[in-house]
Formats: sequence, C-alpha cells, structure tokens
Amino acid sequence: MKGSVIVTGGASGIGLAVVETLLAEGWRVVALDLAADSIATAREHLAAHGARVRFETVDITDESAVVAAVARTAADFGPLKGVVNSAGIARDIPAFDTSVELFRKVLDINLVGSFVVAREAAKAMRETGGGSIVNIASISALRGNLGRSAYGASKGGVMALTKILAVEFAPLGIRVNAVAPGPIETPLVRELLTAETRAAWLKTLPLRRNGTPQEVCGAISFLLDERASSYVTGETIAVDGGFSAGGLINV
Ligand code: NAD
Repeated sequence: MKGSVIVTGGASGIGLAVVETLLAEGWRVVALDLAADSIATAREHLAAHGARVRFETVDITDESAVVAAVARTAADFGPLKGVVNSAGIARDIPAFDTSVELFRKVLDINLVGSFVVAREAAKAMRETGGGSIVNIASISALRGNLGRSAYGASKGGVMALTKILAVEFAPLGIRVNAVAPGPIETPLVRELLTAETRAAWLKTLPLRRNGTPQEVCGAISFLLDERASSYVTGETIAVDGGFSAGGLINV
C-alpha cells in the first residue's frame, strides 16, 4: 500500500483519470473539487474503491479550506506522499476583451491555488520524510496561444513555480515537477474548441489527434513514483502529441 495523495480538480477530466489510475496503483486518494455535480458522479463511478477514496468539496482559492483539507488528509488517510494539482479553468478571449477581473480569476485558480496546495502539502510532507508534487501546466505556456493571455500566463507561472519550489523543497526530500498536456479530450477542451478551431489544432499536431485523459496519467504516475523518478525534480514533461516539438505544416 502506498501513502496518501491529494488530487485537486479530481472530479473531472484529467484529475478524475488520475484518481482512477492512482487507486489502481494502491494509493489512498483524496480528491478536492468545487463542482458538486461532478463530485456526485465521480463518487458513484468509483464507489467500488470504498474507503480508499474520498471526494471533498473544496475551492482551492479558499486558503483556509485548503489548509484544513491537507490536515484532514494526513490525519485520516496517513502520511501525505503525493499531490497532483489538476484544478484549473481556461478561457479563450482576445487580450483586448480580457478584463483585469477575469485575468486575476484565472491566475487565482490556476497559479495561486496550485501554490497554496503545494505549500500546505509540503508542510505535511516535511514531517513524514518527503513526497512528490506534480503541477499541471499546459502547452499554452510553451508556445504562444491565441486568446489565452490569462491562461498562458497562469501556466507559465506554474512552470516557474515548479522550478522554484523544486529548489526550495529539495532539502526536505520533496520533489516538484509539472506535466504540460496538449489538447486532451475533457469537458474543458470540449467547451473551448469549435469545429473550426478543432480542425486547425489537429493540423498542428504531429500525432494528428487529441489525447485522452488516461494518456496524461503515465507521466503523472512516473513523477509520483519515488523509485521511478527519484532523481527528477524541477522538470516539466510535455504530453502533447508532439505539438511542442514543432509540427510545421507543409501546405
Ligand atoms: P476539467 O474542466 O475537466 O477539470 C477541471 C476540474 O477542476 C473541474 O472538475 C473543476 O470543477 C475543478 N476546479 C476548477 N476550479 C476549481 C477550484 N477553484 N477549486 C477546486 N476545483 C476547481 O478540465 P481538464 O481538462 O481535466 O483540466 C485539468 C487541468 O489540466 C487544468 O489545470 C487544465 O488547465 C490543464 N490542461 C488541460 C488541457 C486539456 O486539453 N484538457 C491541456 C493543458 C492543460
């Protein structure tokens, strides 16, 4: 049996696939999410795993709620050994139409929320011999992405944060890495892509298809696994069908 792991955004998309994968690997999983309807569906879907999984309604922008959730996890589920920061929102809006309010909201959830979860988790991990934190960045931070000023900036921040925390937490035995997915078929992407933008995306992808949430899980499992990735920290792994490798179109 492995230790306990917190997955934010664990009720949908990539987070939910991660929860399922980690349960199959023997982790005890606490999933934090704010969407009550997704939580109810996910609970039903994973009922067979019994007491090894718990879904909690937590908004990661609520600092005191995060502090309490991390403390509950360590108390009820045993030493915290992993975190996957998957909660996030995305908006496709031209910069001229992006209000400061919206920009701040995206940063608050994607970047500040990930920071607070990582900071609180690291406080617990330093008491019990360390652990591994995996942040979810995006290819929108690796290359310019039309209409994603707030989102791309938040994910660029997540990549920088990953390196900084990796250096700060290394002496505590805590590794911090990130995964940068390309277009993955989840509710978030289905909301963003029109038929037209979907066709354009596919042309830029060397593998010529969107990924599945399950296809992001391998990299996350690797980074959480102390034996497999013990010497990897501060790194961002792209899981993007080759998008960031180039993908120039010959027309
Ligand atoms: P999703 O919408 O399916 O899941 C995101 C979950 O986060 C939702 O359940 C939502 O309720 C939760 N959430 C949002 N705000 C929250 C908050 N304040 N507190 C707690 N939970 C909150 O999206 P997804 O596609 O699975 O995205 C997961 C992560 O992967 C996000 O960080 C996203 O930016 C990133 N990502 C996704 C893609 C993609 O193509 N799907 C690509 C690159 C990066």
